[in-house]
Amino acid sequence: MNTLLNYGGLPPIGVCQPERLRHGGLRGAGANYPHRMAPSSENPATLDDALKHFFGYDSFRPLQREIAQSALAGDDVLALLPTGGGKSLCYQLPALLRPGLTLVISPLIALMKDQVDALLANGIPATFLNSSIDGAASAERTQGLDRGEYRLLYAAPERIVLPGFLARLERWNVRHIAVDEAHCVSEWGHDFRPEYRRIAALRERLPDVPIMAVTATATDRVRDDIERFLALRSPRRFVAGFNRPNLRYSVFEKRDAFKQLLAWASARANESGIVYVASRQSAEDLAMRLSAAGISARPYHAGLSPQQRARHQDAFIRDEIRVICATIAFGMGIDKPNVRYVVHYDVPKNIEGYYQETGRAGRDGLPSDCALFFSGGDAAKQRHFIKQIEDAAERDRADRLLRTMLDFAATPHCRRSFLLKYFGESDVPDACGNCDNCLQPPERIDATVAAAKLLSCVYRVRAHSGFSTGAHHIVDVLLGHATEKVAGWGHDRVSTFGVGTEHTKDEWMALVSELLRVGCLEQETEHRTLLLTGEGMRALKEQRRFEFARPRVVRKPGKSRKNAARDADSVADASYDVELFEALRRLRKRLADEQGVPPYVIFSDATLRELCVAKPLTLNAFRAVSGVGDVKLERYGDVFVDAIRTHATTL
Ligand code: ADP
Ligand code: ZN
Repeated sequence: MNTLLNYGGLPPIGVCQPERLRHGGLRGAGANYPHRMAPSSENPATLDDALKHFFGYDSFRPLQREIAQSALAGDDVLALLPTGGGKSLCYQLPALLRPGLTLVISPLIALMKDQVDALLANGIPATFLNSSIDGAASAERTQGLDRGEYRLLYAAPERIVLPGFLARLERWNVRHIAVDEAHCVSEWGHDFRPEYRRIAALRERLPDVPIMAVTATATDRVRDDIERFLALRSPRRFVAGFNRPNLRYSVFEKRDAFKQLLAWASARANESGIVYVASRQSAEDLAMRLSAAGISARPYHAGLSPQQRARHQDAFIRDEIRVICATIAFGMGIDKPNVRYVVHYDVPKNIEGYYQETGRAGRDGLPSDCALFFSGGDAAKQRHFIKQIEDAAERDRADRLLRTMLDFAATPHCRRSFLLKYFGESDVPDACGNCDNCLQPPERIDATVAAAKLLSCVYRVRAHSGFSTGAHHIVDVLLGHATEKVAGWGHDRVSTFGVGTEHTKDEWMALVSELLRVGCLEQETEHRTLLLTGEGMRALKEQRRFEFARPRVVRKPGKSRKNAARDADSVADASYDVELFEALRRLRKRLADEQGVPPYVIFSDATLRELCVAKPLTLNAFRAVSGVGDVKLERYGDVFVDAIRTHATTL
């Protein structure tokens, strides 16, 4: 009998094939491992051992251990962890260390399947019940639950009200309830789901079963709602910080935006990325242009049919395409851990959205990039939309939020520190060492004289002609280019004609962007003509000082792939064997396709990277790698070790 898998006096778990595991899977030092594990939840060594055995991880992420311990102690728990904080493990691990069934309430049908697939890949008997499965499959699962074959059951909240479901839960020996994405219970959250209010019925029916609520959304109001509507009983609260240390934040000047995006994506040709845009049309355009340039990409927005959306999302999750070009419709429900970059092609409306969207990068903990392509013109456009909001309070709010977003884009200081302070964190260090400004302090340029020239040129051109012109025309005047238009309109006779030859066209355009951002200029939406604002007029009169950070641009990738990564300021370090990585990635994809699961379910990118460094040639060495639990060792150890050996001998 395998003691490890026989916790709480349950029959051994069939799916795990404990006999094979014991005799075939574990060799050498690992062979006596199950006996070292004491069946006590107080003993922290137990949790560590279980973490390695079931999930293959060597250490807990912040608060995971404490949360799991509380759950095992029978407390109600409210856990607020950032995206990628590893929330699932907080209830999955206790589910394996106590008898009975853990019920997981989850809002998204697509996610349930992925989560269950990931558990099954680790040999953990889990299943889900929702409207996507047919009657026969559902009956089969119900019988399995009757026989006590599963440790975790995922269900949508709608199911709670189905006739007979509560009675079944009693029969199935539910011993713990986990509510994923618990903020869905609150109208103050961004994904309110009225069905979530039904969860309280579980509490009435199963009064002795502890509840764990987990979410990444953590405002006070949402937190209060969760406790109230889920009827939590003096819950233990765990709040992890907002910091995502593996994410690198950078802001680039949006100039030749598509070229920059292409340079960016080409430098990361094999990596998955999300490009957020402001409109459905741009999502379509970008996806098409990227694909035409050899970077496989698909659009995702609310204008596509649910089938198309599901198809594109699926292709992305299965690593069949590299890039998703999406509006903010794309988000919750993306559990793909190996998103290596998130590019904001247009400026987001507020910091909350920006933080949420960038948060989808790097869930697996590997270094990942968040790049914001910023233009003052975009900012002006947004400001223009905000002005049309009728409700004054609403308008002010939107304006305030946008302003903070623009401050983030313009700050010469640490971006991470900006974000963390915004979210009200205390003891935030001044520098993080992993954002563009910390890595390479921005060059400050005194733009006082140039700004005065530019603002007065806008003023004089209008005074001369009685109409306004676009930015390019103004710059032509400053540079003294007597183009057809300039000469035709007599702008070669205004006093600012040719006074700006000390700067290049690009520099002038960057300054236009800055002056739009600070509100000294505005851009009329239809013809994009530049207007001097009241603020700009005052700045001109006061001879205001202007100092800006020199804008950064994405550089073109170099010839070799390794250099390419560096040229484009990538965080991807080349300290691992890139070719082996690609070989293992192909092997992973093949296995994933055979089993009909997303590649990350087999092994995460983090595990593949570690394999490329450690290059284990024995099963024992293979087991030491993070992400290799005992069932995966048994299932995949031989093929991966073979692949690593083959690679070593063909070098
Ligand atoms: P969240 O729901 O909080 O965004 P997940 O539960 O999806 O996070 O976990 C994110 C990723 O991190 C998953 O790929 C998961 O397997 C991995 N992970 C979770 N806990 C650990 C850990 N202790 N060590 C290494 N990886 C972990
Ligand atoms: Zn920083």
